[in-house]
Amino acid sequence: MDLADAETGDGCGLPGPFRLAGGRIVKGGKVNLGTELDQVRAQISSLQSALDDKPDYGLGEGDPAITRRELDRALLEQLKERAAGIEHALSAMADDEYGVCEQCGQSIHPDRLAVLPDTRTCIRCARARESEKVG
Ligand SMILES: [Zn+2]
Repeated sequence: MDLADAETGDGCGLPGPFRLAGGRIVKGGKVNLGTELDQVRAQISSLQSALDDKPDYGLGEGDPAITRRELDRALLEQLKERAAGIEHALSAMADDEYGVCEQCGQSIHPDRLAVLPDTRTCIRCARARESEKVG
């Protein structure tokens, strides 16, 4: 698929705008992944340096600065996972394996890819995994 195809392909039929971490609305799915990765990496490095800057001074209970730090750390982990997911998706694209569920090998629905361009599993496998987690 070339860029022109991706941009004009509006057959995703999504019920509304979907937002990813950066608050950006994604329509084209894979054409945006490279940009997404750049943004996530930028967020990671700024968070990382913010976290590196502050010394780990003694923990005061309920200190908002510490809570903030914990949140930043959690966010940093999420961003790293996200970056890894995007990197994986990009390399899958390079290998022409993009959009194939790594659990069952079926192709992932384009609607799902439009919302979660870096997903590795189809909706069925994702749901199966979710219910495992809950149970
Ligand atoms: Zn699957």
